[in-house]
Amino acid sequence: MDLIRDFRDASYIKGILGAIKSESYRPINIMEICGGHTHTIMRFGLNQLLSDNINFVHGPGCPVCIIPKERIDHAILLSRQEDIILATLGDMMRVPGSLGSLIKERAEGRDIRMIYSPMDVIDIAKKNPDKMVVYFAIGFETTTPMTAALLDLTIQAGIKNIFLHVNHVLVPPPINAIMSSGDISIDAFIGPGHVSAITGTKIYEPIVKRYKTPVVIAGFEPLDILQAVLMIMRQFKENRCEVENQYKRGVNIEGNKKAQGLIKKYFETRDSFRWRGLGDIPESGLKLRDEFAKWDAEVVFSDILNVKPVDDHVLCRCGDILRGRIKPFDCIIFGKACTPENPFGPCMVSSEGACQAYYKYSMESVV
Ligand code: SF4
Repeated sequence: MDLIRDFRDASYIKGILGAIKSESYRPINIMEICGGHTHTIMRFGLNQLLSDNINFVHGPGCPVCIIPKERIDHAILLSRQEDIILATLGDMMRVPGSLGSLIKERAEGRDIRMIYSPMDVIDIAKKNPDKMVVYFAIGFETTTPMTAALLDLTIQAGIKNIFLHVNHVLVPPPINAIMSSGDISIDAFIGPGHVSAITGTKIYEPIVKRYKTPVVIAGFEPLDILQAVLMIMRQFKENRCEVENQYKRGVNIEGNKKAQGLIKKYFETRDSFRWRGLGDIPESGLKLRDEFAKWDAEVVFSDILNVKPVDDHVLCRCGDILRGRIKPFDCIIFGKACTPENPFGPCMVSSEGACQAYYKYSMESVV
């Protein structure tokens, strides 16, 4: 089976659409947690193909979008130190904080490196022994093992000039926050494929039990998502409510034990982490364990990181989008004042952001 061609095959897609329609007897709200799924839904017009009874609600699973402004300010303040090189992934460069953005800081001469893999930090540190290299780490359970592996290698190799600013977060806590807020009504979730490859499927069991809401983990091709929708419809029809795994080619029950071991070795949960749009969520973020504090940029550079929480731009609705309360078209500056070239909020910048997906794939209906 060809994993791209066959999972986009029009005849398979037509067949599964027919099956979904024949099982569909009432309108349902399905939240896709992951921004990667939002992009597949918009790119292939799945929201339009299923518009009769299925409403896709976009969730909080974009790792760039959920970083609050004050943590971007941390990155900016670090980059302004003469003896620091700041390294981060590309999507973070244009996200606005209250002090500006990293791309503007770089234009003003700060040494900010856009990297493709956390391991690139090793090379930067070795080539610049007289500088301190701070890796601004973001991401859900998917990318945390790579940050842990970077620290592992740093320690093993005795490299003294690498530090981590950790912004890693977990998937279940924001889902609990959204469901217990009562803001929106969600009938089922499409679970994130990449996160689940690390964690396994069992992390969703408490959500299913507590909220009586099915979770079906899905891959990232259109057929994956449609098949997940069909599995959800069948759970409703058969009066079942469970965690199911559509993405068996990438995910199992237990997940990646080696990656989980690396995470556990170096990280512990924070008491609380502030999410853009969702506020403080208990035990939703990770930090380095105390015994690794000398690599923790928030500890080492605490004297320059004393910034207060900052609200979003008054017109930006990213928070409401991340909570599933509105869609990008409901933001009055979408595609007007706010565009990928001039973003007001992170949802327009990130390659997993809902606003960027709507802009990229629905431009003609907006502009
Ligand atoms: Fe924020 Fe722009 Fe999206 Fe509006 S369109 S919610 S301002 S990112």
